[in-house]
Amino acid sequence: MIDTHAHLHDAKFDEDREATIQRAREAGIAQMMTVGCDLADSKRALECARSYGLRASIGIHPHEAIDAPEGIASAFDALFDPAFHLAVGEIGLDYYYDHSPRDVQRRVLREQLAYAARRKVPTIFHQRDAFDDFITELRAGFDPSFGGVVHCFTGDAEQARLLVDEFGLRLGIGGVLTFKSAAPLREAVRAVGIEAVLLETDCPYLAPVPMRGRRNEPAFLTHTAIRLAELFAISLDEVAARTDANARALFPAL
Ligand SMILES: [Zn+2]
Ligand SMILES: [Zn+2]
Repeated sequence: MIDTHAHLHDAKFDEDREATIQRAREAGIAQMMTVGCDLADSKRALECARSYGLRASIGIHPHEAIDAPEGIASAFDALFDPAFHLAVGEIGLDYYYDHSPRDVQRRVLREQLAYAARRKVPTIFHQRDAFDDFITELRAGFDPSFGGVVHCFTGDAEQARLLVDEFGLRLGIGGVLTFKSAAPLREAVRAVGIEAVLLETDCPYLAPVPMRGRRNEPAFLTHTAIRLAELFAISLDEVAARTDANARALFPAL
């Protein structure tokens, strides 16, 4: 299985990063994408990918949009390494926390959409409580030819269908799928089918049941995969094979 969205370079893994990656490999997690959230964080993601044979993305999270550098493209160019940097992300809009002003979030998203299109790489999106503006920005600036994933998707069936049908996006599904309260999400996942699903942990956040409340890690991906197997009434092996194929179709160098 592939963990398409992790933050393994996060300080929460400083004490036991190597052991965490080892546990992941033992649990059958063949590859992990460690995702950048601002410029310095993207640099750490790249270093982590180089040290442990992982893959990384570069991006400025909507929370950090306010601190984005002048000229994002040249700052990204200085970091970009096609051997490890497979995507631009995570980028998007987050009106739940509003850590950056909304107009700044939108401008920074737009610049990064243009960058992804220029680099011809897929995009990893973060969207929370900003769905309508997010769709407006996608319609204006997203080039679907290189694909993308809406990570930690927690919307309903209607939103899921729109993202998949209009933009060909994939949905990143993580620990939330296992939460008791997530019936609408399970319905949404069923509505688009397993061909639209990528597995992710978003670790160290959002550990699945029965690990909920603990620091999340890639080895816990199995719990989400088991829930997905139940949902589609298929075997765990089939979930692994199908979601791996989806991940590699989006990120060919995985
Ligand atoms: Zn996110
Ligand atoms: Zn994340």
